[in-house]
Amino acid sequence: MSTEKKSSPFNLQRLVRENVRKMTPYSSARDEYVSDGSEKIFLDANENPFENGLNRYPDPRQRNLKSEIAKRKGIIESKILLGNGSDEVLDLLFRAFCEPAKDKVITIPPTYGMYGVLASLNDVGNTKVEMQPDFTLNLRKINEAVDANTKLIFICSPNNPTGNSIPAEQIEKLLGFFNGLVVIDEAYIDFSEQRSWTESLEEYPNLVITQTFSKAYGMAGIRLGSCFASEEVITVLNRIKPPYNVNDLTQRKAMDRLNNWDVIQEEINLLRSERGKLKKAMASLPFVKQMYHSDANFILVKVDNADKRYEELLNQGFIVRNRSNQPLCSNGLRFTIGTPSENDRLITALKKMK
Ligand SMILES: *Cc1c(COP(=O)(O)O)cnc(C)c1O
Repeated sequence: MSTEKKSSPFNLQRLVRENVRKMTPYSSARDEYVSDGSEKIFLDANENPFENGLNRYPDPRQRNLKSEIAKRKGIIESKILLGNGSDEVLDLLFRAFCEPAKDKVITIPPTYGMYGVLASLNDVGNTKVEMQPDFTLNLRKINEAVDANTKLIFICSPNNPTGNSIPAEQIEKLLGFFNGLVVIDEAYIDFSEQRSWTESLEEYPNLVITQTFSKAYGMAGIRLGSCFASEEVITVLNRIKPPYNVNDLTQRKAMDRLNNWDVIQEEINLLRSERGKLKKAMASLPFVKQMYHSDANFILVKVDNADKRYEELLNQGFIVRNRSNQPLCSNGLRFTIGTPSENDRLITALKKMK
């Protein structure tokens, strides 16, 4: 395999856009005076002083929430950045490291569509290196696609829409030969048996991990995503993030949810066992041609005719995702795992289809 080692040591500052390196970050009132908890009269941020529970700006560094996440994940706060969904975190990575009309990223279709959308939005080249037919990385082609302007490589693991995890040995090799940042999107990690790459942060200065409260944590409505990386990477992102990017309601709701850790774990366990139930039921359907292994809360299924089966399901009140137009996913339907009774109803509906 022609995936030779890096020729020079990793140097983060070399990756940072020049304007970002030079800029003076916005300094908010809440940055300049950090409350020590004692009674003070706050006349520094032009807020309305009459208390209604939300009249004050949120904590720009989300200290309480971060300390709770740090405890749960076993990662020090200085290696965590929070954003308005992981979509904002991904956008910040583009804005910090990719020079418009010059730099490039690599994405690995079939995968999450947002990486490509953000590349277009930021006027950053997107080199697509398709997965192998078994949904693993084509490391040789990735290595060939890398050039001096390639700043980021996006790996989604478990991958959306295919459901599989990317083999750890492949990601290790990628981290070894690529001198930019390897961004591993772990939106579905809690449904997986694989260990999170957050455990390897100390080993790899070019490793960035994103996670979200939108899937396993059941909080898609509050918009909260996290980024775990070296202190150096997080410092760069902190310089450019909007000061109050995570609002107060979101911070409070996320805290409440984390304080119900057992509920989160029970829901994850239930969804995993429901995934098994659905898979078993689908295996005997005549129009199902192939089912792919899933480490996520959805299953990708290859059917005889995706458009037809999509319509039939819709007529019975089920909305699934037709992924047929994605590379390697022809006639692929993606089913999100619902509640046990929703899944039972889905199975009944599927069995009626001839
Ligand atoms: C759903 C999903 C996300 C979540 O994005 P948020 O902005 O945090 O809601 C991120 N990555 C992938 C691959 C997803 O499927």
